[in-house]
Amino acid sequence: QRIIGAGATREDEAIEASIRPQRLADYLGQQPVREQLDIYIQAAKQRGEALDHVLIFGPPGLGKTTLSHVIANELGVSLRTTSGPVIEKAGDLAALLTNLQPHDVLFIDEIHRLSPVVEEVLYPAMEDFQIDIMIGEGPAARSIKLDLPPFTLVGATTRAGLLTAPLRDRFGIVQRLEFYSAAELTRIVRRSAQILGIDCEPGGADEIARRSRGTPRIANRLLRRVRDYAQVRAGGRIDHEVAGAAMQILKVDAEGFDDLDRRLLNLIIENFDGGPVGVESLAAALSEERGTLEDVIEPYLIQQGFLVRTARGRMATHKAWRHLGLQPRGPAAE
Ligand code: ADP
Repeated sequence: QRIIGAGATREDEAIEASIRPQRLADYLGQQPVREQLDIYIQAAKQRGEALDHVLIFGPPGLGKTTLSHVIANELGVSLRTTSGPVIEKAGDLAALLTNLQPHDVLFIDEIHRLSPVVEEVLYPAMEDFQIDIMIGEGPAARSIKLDLPPFTLVGATTRAGLLTAPLRDRFGIVQRLEFYSAAELTRIVRRSAQILGIDCEPGGADEIARRSRGTPRIANRLLRRVRDYAQVRAGGRIDHEVAGAAMQILKVDAEGFDDLDRRLLNLIIENFDGGPVGVESLAAALSEERGTLEDVIEPYLIQQGFLVRTARGRMATHKAWRHLGLQPRGPAAE
């Protein structure tokens, strides 16, 4: 497990429940998303209708699950949570849908991982609030239509491109979450520190925020590890210096990179002269899956301008050479 990995660990899950924002006002950052949802939610409530289906996409740890909680709370309805791989059979989905109350929110995480059969059931459910279910077997089998209460499906996925077109087309509201700025993450760290009773100065929060790869989940996890360090070595108080010293032990550098990031950049630079190099070659050399490289490791490096995707493969930018303390040479991408 990477300390800066964006996926949720058991510890994250246990703690996140207590610090997860419940209302739009506590959902920090993501200004355009908040503003739009605020309007759509108020409009739906005024009309006494279910909110249109919402698709949220963005890298792990940016607040997709949290947003589904916020939406349900703001609408004043119940939330049911499940995920694509968990819904194995059409009947599993039918059971979930028929148990909803009017205007409830059904959250399906990793919605791109629904099986095709289950997805087929979802189409009429989303469009007409109806499902067709098969009763009986063999020649006596027949299909009956069931009416569902109007509900809101909130689907989450890491990339919109992973969804089939018919599914994507059935979402009236599509929101993309962006990486958070350091200033936004500083506010999130300070909020979490307050809830968890951690003594954290603004300078300490800022230092944690800047190394958190634009991701609230990572910021909250680093806060807990820095707290451990502060408790044992620094009298319990997190300031700028304490946070920096703790990060050194955690091997998280000033950009929020860990060994794996540095190995990736180093590989492109040392073994492939800065690139371009195909993603398959990189994955093989790092013993990582291609998908992990593309979804987990690369997005932040690309967003921060250390890596570029070109038609011929990945290239390390001059910024990457300099970050590793190397003099840029050759046709490295700017
Ligand atoms: P995702 O579903 O995208 O993987 P989560 O919604 O589980 O991410 O978010 C991870 C944690 O990060 C949450 O428990 C929450 O504490 C924190 N978090 C996410 N988004 C925000 C936000 N906008 N403001 C404050 N905290 C947030």
